[in-house]
Amino acid sequence: MTRFQFTIEATDGKARTGRIAMRRGEIRTPAFMPVGTAASVKAMKPEAVRETGADIILGNTYHLMLRPGAERVARLGGLHQFMNWPRPILTDSGGYQVMSLSDLRKLTEDGVEFRSHIDGSKHMLSPERSMEIQRLLGSDIVMAFDECPRADRPRDEIARSMELSMRWARRSRDAFDAGEEHAAGAALFGIQQGALDPELRLQSAEALTAIGFDGYAIGGLAVGEGQEAMFATLDFAPGQLPADRPRYLMGVGKPDDLVGAVERGIDMFDCVLPTRSGRNGQAFTWNGALNLRNARHAEDLAPLDERCPCPACANYSRAYLHHLVKAGEILGAMIVTEHNLTFYQQLMQAMRDAIRDRCIAAFAGDFRRNYAG
Ligand SMILES: [Zn+2]
Repeated sequence: MTRFQFTIEATDGKARTGRIAMRRGEIRTPAFMPVGTAASVKAMKPEAVRETGADIILGNTYHLMLRPGAERVARLGGLHQFMNWPRPILTDSGGYQVMSLSDLRKLTEDGVEFRSHIDGSKHMLSPERSMEIQRLLGSDIVMAFDECPRADRPRDEIARSMELSMRWARRSRDAFDAGEEHAAGAALFGIQQGALDPELRLQSAEALTAIGFDGYAIGGLAVGEGQEAMFATLDFAPGQLPADRPRYLMGVGKPDDLVGAVERGIDMFDCVLPTRSGRNGQAFTWNGALNLRNARHAEDLAPLDERCPCPACANYSRAYLHHLVKAGEILGAMIVTEHNLTFYQQLMQAMRDAIRDRCIAAFAGDFRRNYAG
């Protein structure tokens, strides 16, 4: 049984392609993980998510601990069985969403006390509790518990927060390792912090590497700093992390963000954009994003994208989808979500092929020209 094995099969510049072997299946990298917030990739059955080409999905600790509760999911056989997704699942630590969604937070060295955004009930998240929840869910890739401050905070505040996250990373490692049976089959990723600052990012990378993780995430980006600042940080941050471990850019992003990040050496991504946009009538294509509410689609018999192999593009016109979206029909959200997730997976496959063919720079150039056009 392979617990976790990352193999880089080809590189082109800083870009890499390969695979992660785990006991529940293989993850081709660079990989995009659809977000299954509350044990559901919204508007999609799990078998349809797999058909889009996804090897792994993401589950949210914060949402699942509040509803239906991690202990309940464990009693029901774990998250994979509960939601009928037998392949790998990565769970986040809950830290980011406590900061962005809950009320009345109290942050201490121990952890974060907060009230549920659903019913106001009081909860505590700490490195130990986050590891326990992710273990109860049966997560394959567990994320260390961290604090994610806004990138525009003063440097000393970013530094203090990063240092706290590194102490929490140590506690996460210890608590994960204490769950012996689960730890024997799962992986633990550390999360680099330090906002846009090269020196703080380096300190964070060194602290994490000294502890030792299966993979390393770059946290604290895609929080409103803009693409230019994010790419400037990605010009140095991935190189500070161990080259032989997967690098995961959390919460990213738009199709052109993914292309620029892969060129800079990122191996894994997650983002709500393809699913959330699908419910809002926004479709991604090789020629850019299109808004199906726009009247110019009202009598357009073309598919969303001529090159897309998804069932939506084989069977439904832009005119029909325009109608469904305008009428608020659930089917519109389902079809556009399926298309968007397929488009994202097609984009990842095209980048994996381009890296193998040593032409990622040309691919990225073509992509940006067409996508902007
Ligand atoms: Zn399609």
